[in-house]
Amino acid sequence: MLVDTHAHLQWTSFDKDREKVMIRAREAHVNRIVNVGFDVDGSVEGVKLAEQHEGLYAAVGIHPHNAIQLDQKVLNKLRELSENPKVVAIGEIGLDYYRDLSPREAQKKAFEAQLFLAEELELPVVIHDREAYRDVLEIISRFKGKIKGIMHCFSGSKDMAEQCIKLGFLVSFAGNVTYPNAHNLHQIAEWIDLRKALLETDSPWLPPQEMRGKRNEPSFLPLTAKKIANLKGICLDELAETTTKNAEAIFKLK
Ligand SMILES: [Zn+2]
Ligand SMILES: [Zn+2]
Repeated sequence: MLVDTHAHLQWTSFDKDREKVMIRAREAHVNRIVNVGFDVDGSVEGVKLAEQHEGLYAAVGIHPHNAIQLDQKVLNKLRELSENPKVVAIGEIGLDYYRDLSPREAQKKAFEAQLFLAEELELPVVIHDREAYRDVLEIISRFKGKIKGIMHCFSGSKDMAEQCIKLGFLVSFAGNVTYPNAHNLHQIAEWIDLRKALLETDSPWLPPQEMRGKRNEPSFLPLTAKKIANLKGICLDELAETTTKNAEAIFKLK
């Protein structure tokens, strides 16, 4: 059994066949999925889906692309949503200097405000970092010992991974680890202590190599799991067991 620790099943590209996608996930032994928010509506929809489906959980938060939306009202809405027992994290939050869809100052402010919220609510955070690792590290190190979380769809260096782990974070691998030219990620997957690793799809984006060009979905997660098991020279069962335990612990899944 695997846990997809990061998917966006509330996205419109699943509107036509969402139920079938969830059935295929279970058939592929992906029996639990954390549906991650990216704006207010996405967070509301994610919580709704989690309420309606066994094995589905939600993270609520404002993505750095939408950072400009974050104000006191939005923070209060996230706080209210997090009272639902199916909400297991604040996310995704962070910094994205690759697309820069919100001004960087607004991104930093929204990131910090949501880290304080997670601290207050004693929830882990799901962090999105794209080409912003220096600032991400600087900000999360201020919360050392107060915040736990996940570096989602990790794409940084081994040094960055090491520093995040030291700060109490887990490193989550997505479909891009299966890409033949992702040598850096292959090395990190080989090197990492399995107890610090998680698996995710980031559906509908970033399909594994065998599915490139298609919409990604949770049932493709075993392809990513197999690649990491191969890189580490362990069997898929061992990888599944440890990463599932890690997900259960960080999200307090029952
Ligand atoms: Zn992300
Ligand atoms: Zn995402």
